[in-house]
Amino acid sequence: MVTIGVLALQGAVREHIRAIEESGAKAIQIKHREQLHEIDGLILPGGESTTMRRLIDSYDFFTAIQEFGEQGKPIFGTCAGLILMANEIEGQDPAHMGLMNMKVARNAFGRQVASFEAELAITHVADDFNAVFIRAPYVLQAGPEVEILATYQDRIVAAKQGHYLCTAFHPELTDDNRVVEYFVTMVKQSLKTLAS
Ligand code: GLN
Repeated sequence: MVTIGVLALQGAVREHIRAIEESGAKAIQIKHREQLHEIDGLILPGGESTTMRRLIDSYDFFTAIQEFGEQGKPIFGTCAGLILMANEIEGQDPAHMGLMNMKVARNAFGRQVASFEAELAITHVADDFNAVFIRAPYVLQAGPEVEILATYQDRIVAAKQGHYLCTAFHPELTDDNRVVEYFVTMVKQSLKTLAS
């Protein structure tokens, strides 16, 4: 069984743990960077990206997470996690971890429409996924190596670059686990690739 960690400094941690366990993987909360050695894949949850970044720095996670990714281990960022993964953030320089070649806009659906749900077609995952958006970002531009998995009102809301996955919405907030199941499949695949 693969083990997936959820960065547990801030944000929607417990919901991801449940979704991972229901998707047939072992889930652990990651509170110290040494724990990254125990996991095969990592989820950066939703929450508030500037707060999460501050905590990532205080707990000395920044380089450790980048190195985790450089080893070919999958990382999945949801909402604030997507913002943390981008190499460019509109109106904010520098960006955070720069794992994916994309420019993102924060709170991009407007502060008034803070939260909404929409049914999305997501490549590799589902034609009818009910996505929950909460003060969500979206991807403004993506490099050629980024595969666009879903759009909503012509805005990119799910993408993949090799072993990195991101969604602007919160797949862990419904009991439809198909996005998390897809990430579990990516983690299993990466273990085969890393072993060969
Ligand atoms: N708008 C938040 C941010 O900029 C993200 C919101 C979320 O993760 N639900 O970090």
